[in-house]
Amino acid sequence: MLNIVLFGPPGAGKGTQSEKIIDQYQLTHISTGDLFRKHLSHGTELGLLAKTYMDEGNLVPDDVVIQMVELKIIEDRESRGVIFDGFPRTVNQANALDNMLEKSGQTISGMILLEVEEDELRKRILLRGQSSGRSDDQDLEKINNRIRVYQAETLPVANYYQGQGKLYKVHGIGSIDDIFRGICSVLDKLL
Ligand code: AMP
Repeated sequence: MLNIVLFGPPGAGKGTQSEKIIDQYQLTHISTGDLFRKHLSHGTELGLLAKTYMDEGNLVPDDVVIQMVELKIIEDRESRGVIFDGFPRTVNQANALDNMLEKSGQTISGMILLEVEEDELRKRILLRGQSSGRSDDQDLEKINNRIRVYQAETLPVANYYQGQGKLYKVHGIGSIDDIFRGICSVLDKLL
């Protein structure tokens, strides 16, 4: 099983690269942002709750996120491995993920950190906002808050995996295919 955490700030290209990875390695994609947006489009209670946090660029509370991921992991238990995209975003979530995987004798194989400078992130998110329709991609103040939240609450998760010897950094600037090649060279070693 190849269980990968694809990590990086908002706008680093996690969604784009996830699609390429799942195609090449036949993995299941678990994106917590996509799951919340799906709940919202169906008007569920969970979706409406998540919206109040997402609209401001803040994190949805850990217990809500963890419960949603746990259900999804059970649903996808036959898969060959999972790409976690946008999760874990706090050290508490990372601990919970380790515990969930341990129950089925699994573990995280590695974390790939896509490194992209802040100015480039803002440019990419605003550009994506023109077509994504995501309100959190269109307002500079919300974008800046998401970057701040990433640095304060999410970046410590990289140290968590570094402590386990599982952190791999990939340069996240360049063509989509070049970045993908950087990711593949890590995944091929982990296989
Ligand atoms: P994303 O699509 O990954 O950029 O996520 C969009 C928004 O969903 C984030 O700004 C958060 O409000 C919320 N979100 C997604 N994943 C998580 C998570 N693992 N923990 C807390 N909030 C999350």
